[in-house]
Amino acid sequence: MTNTKATVVLKSTKEQSLKRFHPWVFSGAIKEIEGTVQEGDLVKVVSNTREFLGTGHYQIGSIAVRIVTFTDEPVDSAFWKKKLAEAVSLRRALGLLDSTDTNVFRLVHGEGDGLPGLIVDFYNGTAVLQAHSVGMYLIRNELAQLLKELLGEQLQAVYNKSDKTLPFKADLKPENGYLLGTSEPTIVKEYGQAFRVDWVEGQKTGFFIDQRENRRLVQEYAQGRDVLNMFCYSGGFSFYAMRGGANLVHSVDSSAKAIDLTNQNVELNFENDPRHEAFVADAFSFMRDIKDKYDLIILDPPAFAKHRNALHQALQAYKRLNAKAFEQVRPGGIVFTFSCSQVVTKDKFREAVFSGAAISGRKVRILHQLTQPADHPINMYHPEGEYLKGLVLYVD
Ligand code: SAH
Repeated sequence: MTNTKATVVLKSTKEQSLKRFHPWVFSGAIKEIEGTVQEGDLVKVVSNTREFLGTGHYQIGSIAVRIVTFTDEPVDSAFWKKKLAEAVSLRRALGLLDSTDTNVFRLVHGEGDGLPGLIVDFYNGTAVLQAHSVGMYLIRNELAQLLKELLGEQLQAVYNKSDKTLPFKADLKPENGYLLGTSEPTIVKEYGQAFRVDWVEGQKTGFFIDQRENRRLVQEYAQGRDVLNMFCYSGGFSFYAMRGGANLVHSVDSSAKAIDLTNQNVELNFENDPRHEAFVADAFSFMRDIKDKYDLIILDPPAFAKHRNALHQALQAYKRLNAKAFEQVRPGGIVFTFSCSQVVTKDKFREAVFSGAAISGRKVRILHQLTQPADHPINMYHPEGEYLKGLVLYVD
């Protein structure tokens, strides 16, 4: 029934994880491929005893197939439309598509929406599509059309930004650009605060949408505090802190572009507010000497480990960074600390923060355990999807 050209046959016992609906087939699990296959093709996956397991996109690499369905059904335009419609319904159910104070959110979150390899972020009428697999990249125009059919007037443009997320060996020479309509870099709203978002020039799809709820929590703790927002990018945590009544807010990032963006955004929300200052600096040098300067420190570093073999070094970096914050935050201070590395598990991250606390010798208590928001859903069968981890700590 499946409309595929080739069949991937797994080695004996390698069907177990697929039977538990985990959507990845690793190359080492494959016994043979029947038929000819090219990167990005849909393939049927069967067990060693030829039981149907799923259909997915084939790619050369450690993850060889990303399963899009565990049912033996055609994977055609109607199929993709159904999957995208499910993703849209969830965001409607979350109130995000009709909200008056938030118009930026994630519309499709890869495995979390049963669409491995596909990310779509929504910025006030512009969808920014990011393909992480060759298969999704090849059908990008079709996906853009289907999104338009589903969202109608709510969607003016779809921009493809996949140049950095596709395997370079696939030699697709991806170029970023509009797949549908056009739009200008825009000002979006998140809980009523304004952000300038530039998907063409910005990091990721333009904005770190995944910190929305955690930024809002910072607002609750900011009253009367001196705040350090380390790794600030476009400054989100800073102006939530300002809205929450912070005394002063220092935003720091090693990228001059990011600091520019932060200053612009702070101006948008708090014109000429003397409480805010931004610095271009490396985190480790800035934090060398901040003893008793701050009573709320936010640490939201980039993914220190992008691959498993960088894990040990990443954990050391988290430990050192957090130790610096614990050692120097004022008594009664609060530390918000995060990791967005997928390969660093919740437990490993907590251990690293624990080691950092132990080095500082301070009494540290966990107030909140944070994760990604509901528009970044975690597929139960794909625990790797829980990539954002955070802790809010009280330091006596
Ligand atoms: N907190 C941000 C997202 C942070 S992304 C938000 O809410 O939007 C991580 C940021 O860390 C990037 O902007 C990157 O430029 C910055 N960065 C990377 N390495 C750094 C370093 N060594 N010191 C300071 N900033 C760094």
